[in-house]
Amino acid sequence: MNSLYIHIPFCRKKCIYCDFYSVAYEQNLAADYTNVLREQIKQLDGSFSTIYIGGGTPTVLGREALSNLLGGLKRFIGPEVEFTVEANPESLSKDILELFLDSGVNRLSLGIQSFDNDKLKKLGRIHNGASGQEAVYLAQDAGFKNISIDLIFGVWNETPEDWKQELRKAAALPIQHISGYSLTYEKDTPLFELAQEKKITPLEDEIAAQMYEETIDFLQKEGFNQYEVSNFAKEGYACRHNQNYWENNSYIGLGASAVSYVDGIRKENVSDAGEYIARYKKEESLEVFQEELSPIEKAKETAAVKIRTNEGIDFNWFKQKTGFDFGELQEGALSRLTDKGLISYNMRCAKAPRVHLTPKGFLFADTVSGELL
Ligand code: SF4
Repeated sequence: MNSLYIHIPFCRKKCIYCDFYSVAYEQNLAADYTNVLREQIKQLDGSFSTIYIGGGTPTVLGREALSNLLGGLKRFIGPEVEFTVEANPESLSKDILELFLDSGVNRLSLGIQSFDNDKLKKLGRIHNGASGQEAVYLAQDAGFKNISIDLIFGVWNETPEDWKQELRKAAALPIQHISGYSLTYEKDTPLFELAQEKKITPLEDEIAAQMYEETIDFLQKEGFNQYEVSNFAKEGYACRHNQNYWENNSYIGLGASAVSYVDGIRKENVSDAGEYIARYKKEESLEVFQEELSPIEKAKETAAVKIRTNEGIDFNWFKQKTGFDFGELQEGALSRLTDKGLISYNMRCAKAPRVHLTPKGFLFADTVSGELL
C-alpha cells in the first residue's frame, strides 16, 4: 500500500499551540507553491491507495489554486482511492466543497477543535463554535459522506463536564470520524511560553487522563469505535491513510516539511515554502534530511507505530512484515511494559500471539512506543 501526502503550509493565522510548519497565507507565494507542486505531481509514477492533502490549511488557497492542484491529481483517482483534504471552517465554502467532490475528494477532515467560543479564542483559532457546526452541515449538504473532525481537550481551566458537552455536540453531528487530541505544550510555541511565564496553569495530568477515558467510553457508546490512541470511527470509516502510517508502509510526501518513506529510506523536505520553490526552480535537492533504516530499525519502528492501534500487533503479521520474531526482538521491552501494566501480552493462542495496549497503556502510548524503538 502506497500513500501520497501533500503539505500546504499556509494558514490565515497561527494558532498558539501549533508546532507544524505553517506561515501566513500570501497569495503570490501560495500560487508559486502550488505551481511547483503541480509540476512535481506530473512527475509522479505509479498509483496510490490513499491521497491526503494536509496543512496548514489547504482551503486557505482558495478555489483557483486548489483547482490547479487537484487537476494534477485526477489521473490517480479511482473508486478504491481514499482521498482526504483538510479544511478549516473559516475558509470552507460551497464552491470549494463542490470542487473537492468533482475532483474525487471523498473524505473531508475538518479542523473544528472545539464548539466553545472561549476555548477557541484561548487556542488562537479564528472560527467560532457555531461556524464549526455549520461547516459540517455544509459538507454534508454538498454530498460528503465521510467527514472527520478534530477536537482538542485538556485546555487550561476546562472541566470534564465542559469536555463531555463538546463530545455530545460532536456525536450529534452527521460525521463518521473523530480525532481527539489532548492539548500539548510544544517547545517554541506561544502556548509553551505562556505556561513558562506562569500566565496559564496547564490542566493536571489526572484531569486530562479522566477526560481521555471519558472520550473513549462516551464515543464507544455513540458508535465511534476507537481504532487508535486518538482516533474514533463509525464502522467502516477508519482513516486508511493513517492506518498506512501505523503499518509503517511507504508514503511519498510533497511540499515544504513533508516526509517521504520508501524502501526504508526516510527523507524530509526543507521547512520553508520560499526555499522549497527556489530549490525546485534551481533543480537543487529539496531534502534537508535523509536516513536509511537497517532492517532491525525498520522492524522496531513498525512495532512502535503499530502498537498504537487497538488491534495491536499480531506476531505472525509482524514476522511476515519485518522478517523478525516479535517476541525475540522485543523480549526485554515486553516484560518491562507488561510489568508496568501498559501492554497485554496474549500468548494463549499459540497460533496467533498478539500484544496490545491496556487501558492504562493508551494513556501512556508514547512511553510504550519509545520502549519498543
Ligand atoms: S490552523 Fe492548523 S496548521 Fe494552521 S496554525 Fe492552526 S493548528 Fe496550525
